[in-house]
Amino acid sequence: MIEIADVGKRFVLHNQGGAILDVMHAACLNVRAGECVALVGASGAGKSTLMRMIWGNYRCDQGSIRVAGVELCGAQARDVLALRRSRLGYVSQFLRVIPRVPALNVVAEPLVVQGVDEDHARAQAAALLTRLNIPQRLWALSPTTFSGGEQQRVNIARGFIHPWPVMLLDEPTASLDAVNRAVVLDLIREAKTHGAAILGIFHDAAARDAVCDREVDMAQFTPAAAGAA
Ligand code: ADP
Ligand code: ADP
Repeated sequence: MIEIADVGKRFVLHNQGGAILDVMHAACLNVRAGECVALVGASGAGKSTLMRMIWGNYRCDQGSIRVAGVELCGAQARDVLALRRSRLGYVSQFLRVIPRVPALNVVAEPLVVQGVDEDHARAQAAALLTRLNIPQRLWALSPTTFSGGEQQRVNIARGFIHPWPVMLLDEPTASLDAVNRAVVLDLIREAKTHGAAILGIFHDAAARDAVCDREVDMAQFTPAAAGAA
């Protein structure tokens, strides 16, 4: 479902006189349906950069990234957006807070976008918020007022509201207590059972081992100091 071949990435550092930062060289990996693969490697190894390239935040300069059969390298922005809406779930490290939108609607929105009836979407959102221990008194409030942990759980609920065939998880268990961490690991297992191909970054090795089938070390794709500014 995720097929990455010979992907290279470099940044032009405009604030450093246009110096080139080579981050990744000939990265290759595949994630099959029903499988969870963990990206590992030291800070700065390019884990987030690769995730952002799959999400379409960062352009792919070189190689091929195919997600659910769609080629992202060189793709038009509208094709990337169409892929996101229909196939890709993404849990980023932090909630991209949408001001004034109640938590329930933040979580239900990806389903509504899929054409699911609004009442049904809100009922599913309520069930997921309950599972993630967000009290009902908060559902009508904007998550901008929530604690960091509550925001992260709203973010997770939004990511898991739909059985996406492909999911990207960036530190989904960071800042969660043991109870909620266990809920998230269950959500990941259920997504795998539904056939999701999952690529994740987990600093928590116990969480990683609990749900991931294998690891891919980004260090092997780091260009040996060449071009580093
Ligand atoms: P990791 O997630 O493994 O910690 P990152 O993907 O965040 O690593 O970063 C890899 C390298 O790319 C780092 O050296 C980082 O500074 C650099 N980098 C990431 N994003 C940008 C950007 N937008 N512009 C310039 N350099 C970037
Ligand atoms: P956004 O998602 O906020 O629209 P992106 O995630 O696409 O933006 O890319 C910008 C991100 O890259 C910002 O989060 C910024 O902090 C990060 N970034 C920029 N330069 C660097 C760098 N040198 N090292 C690591 N991260 C960087």
